Amino acid sequence: MKKFLSLLSFVALMMLNACDSATVVTPSTDQVSFLIDGGEQVVDISSDGRWSVGNCPDWVKTDVQDGRLVIKTGHNDSGALRQGDIVLTGKNVSSIIHVTQAAKCTHITPSSDKVEFGKDGGTQTVNIDTDGIPQVQASEGFTATYANGVLTVTAASNAVGARRGEIKLTCEDQSVTIFASQKGNVCKTCGGSGKLTCPQCHGKGWYPIEAAGGAAACERCGGRWNGFTDDSSDWRDGTGRIKCPDCGGTGFGD
Ligand SMILES: [Zn+2]
Ligand SMILES: [Zn+2]
Repeated sequence: MKKFLSLLSFVALMMLNACDSATVVTPSTDQVSFLIDGGEQVVDISSDGRWSVGNCPDWVKTDVQDGRLVIKTGHNDSGALRQGDIVLTGKNVSSIIHVTQAAKCTHITPSSDKVEFGKDGGTQTVNIDTDGIPQVQASEGFTATYANGVLTVTAASNAVGARRGEIKLTCEDQSVTIFASQKGNVCKTCGGSGKLTCPQCHGKGWYPIEAAGGAAACERCGGRWNGFTDDSSDWRDGTGRIKCPDCGGTGFGD
């Protein structure tokens, strides 16, 4: 069976080769468009014989593979929309494929919208899907460079408090922001949480009043007593936590 098929395709091939130039050359599409970074697109060509590429813009390369036309373009550095026609010719017949290529960057899509560094700093990369060549700006404390679809962000060792910043990528009217953060020294008083257990209520949010045989909401940590009734529903306990006085609640140390 396999032999039979091979023989059949061989005969078909011979018949095709024996044919003269095509009297029908029909591309599956009469226009193809490329983004600014170029690429490769394949167009099927139906024909009844031999055909060739008669004319082609100088910024387009073509290749014929198995009766299909492979169209290739590089990055559009011209600053303007490019367009031109590929002409396919057979015997007294021709077809046109219109080719356009954008001059604008249409998207910048990072694989992550943040980079996080430890206190010792280091280097991290984010993959960037884009059809342009973005410009990069980084906040103080971070450096960033872009090349070939990869954003590389570096942070030096951090001797001060934790810091935050932004890495901004722009390409014409497209822009995207990646948030950068780095851990810093931690407040020894609160261990970085920015909060301490309330010293007045010891974390309960209320405290007993021995003399009255009752209890009161702790105002030191945000508790309230509306004062209308003695019923507990008229009370709101405190959180039991206060802002760390040493770091002002930031959790960062010296
Ligand atoms: Zn603190
Ligand atoms: Zn309290």
